[in-house]
Amino acid sequence: MDRTRSRKAFERSIKTFAGGVGSAGRLFPEPLFIDRGKGSRVIDIDGNEYIDYVIAFGPLILGHCPEVVMDAVSEQLGKGTMFGASHELEFLVSEKVAQLVPCIDLVRFTCSGSEAIHFALRLARAYTGRPKVIKFEGHYHGWYDNVYVSVKPSPPVGLPNAPWKVRGAPGQPENVVDNLVIVPWNDLEAVESALEDQGHEIAAVIAEPVMFNNGGIGPEEGYLSALREVTSRHGVVLIFDEIVTGFRLALGGAQEYFGVTPDLCVFGKGLAAGYPISGFGGRREIMELVATNQVAHFGTFNSNPLCLAAALATLEELSRDDGQVMQYVSAVGAKLRTGLNELFGRHGFPMRADGCDSIFVLNSPVLELRNYRDFMGVDAEFVYRFYEKMFNEGVWFMRRGNMMLSAAHTEEDVQQTLEAAERVIKSW
Ligand code: PMP
Repeated sequence: MDRTRSRKAFERSIKTFAGGVGSAGRLFPEPLFIDRGKGSRVIDIDGNEYIDYVIAFGPLILGHCPEVVMDAVSEQLGKGTMFGASHELEFLVSEKVAQLVPCIDLVRFTCSGSEAIHFALRLARAYTGRPKVIKFEGHYHGWYDNVYVSVKPSPPVGLPNAPWKVRGAPGQPENVVDNLVIVPWNDLEAVESALEDQGHEIAAVIAEPVMFNNGGIGPEEGYLSALREVTSRHGVVLIFDEIVTGFRLALGGAQEYFGVTPDLCVFGKGLAAGYPISGFGGRREIMELVATNQVAHFGTFNSNPLCLAAALATLEELSRDDGQVMQYVSAVGAKLRTGLNELFGRHGFPMRADGCDSIFVLNSPVLELRNYRDFMGVDAEFVYRFYEKMFNEGVWFMRRGNMMLSAAHTEEDVQQTLEAAERVIKSW
């Protein structure tokens, strides 16, 4: 594939645009500049077309340029983009979110996932009067100082049952780690013993219900309900980070999918099909602190009408006909994941797609994956080589093997992807 124009664009971009990318997550070794997207496909500025399994890192749950959302946003554009005052879309979307998401009685909207998490942690601390938060090694909850710790640490990282607290970036104050307790994922004993030792100081346990950012490692059978039980017992707020899983694993997110209701949750990507909005919500008793302004929550761009118009249209589309569209996203994802695993197995290719339905990760070699330490055994170089070959076949996913599907992905996309994967495996 010729990517001359992308390369030239990159050379130009880096002169004024730091690193030539808008987010560190977009630093792919091969510069890629997209011209446009339609449905499940993107076309780069050289005219190459790709089946898109990046879908903007998750938000494009309806694919590129879904008409229902474009119409709603266009209509709102003519009425105004921001008012700095209340408007009807706020309660229309809140009602829908509260109806769909089990833990939510009250909700507020924000602009990014990191921001929503930042506030949810403040709220949990205010509610409990305690300073510390239990976070799982390898889980990502945004890039803010207070929680960007032990996300993708490289060795040395300490003993598996006593992980070091590793700040993610220079510039984070040293003392941010003081208020975090890092424990391994899928290890109930580790959480229980942290709560027994320091429970009186712990405000919250925060978790990605599926560790999508490192390996696609789900909760073991009964693990989330055990977390629910142990946090309730210690008066600790359980927060699900549903930025990826919300409005994706099910209309009610991972909490519906796994049948475990947290106290608070944050959501974002799937909510508005590509418009920058996120939110946090949960149990009335906790959220009352926001509602009554005892815990201040501000934001100029919060619940702006443009994004809420997109959110309402997205939720209506996902939930129409008893959630048929949402079910389709899961089904088409499951089809690709099982198809890939069947292919890898048939060719004895050392790779497996781990995860759930429409979100999964290609890992190699095939390992028993319970937590971040196991994921450290994944051969990132091997996955990257596979990624690169698939990219040259016109199939685009994340270089660590993460793939996400949307309502715009078709059976034909799945078929073409499987055929491309088979060609890559045969030529390996
Ligand atoms: N939590 C999770 C689980 C995420 O995957 C992400 C983003 N990839 C975030 C939080 C942060 O969201 P944002 O990039 O919108 O700040």
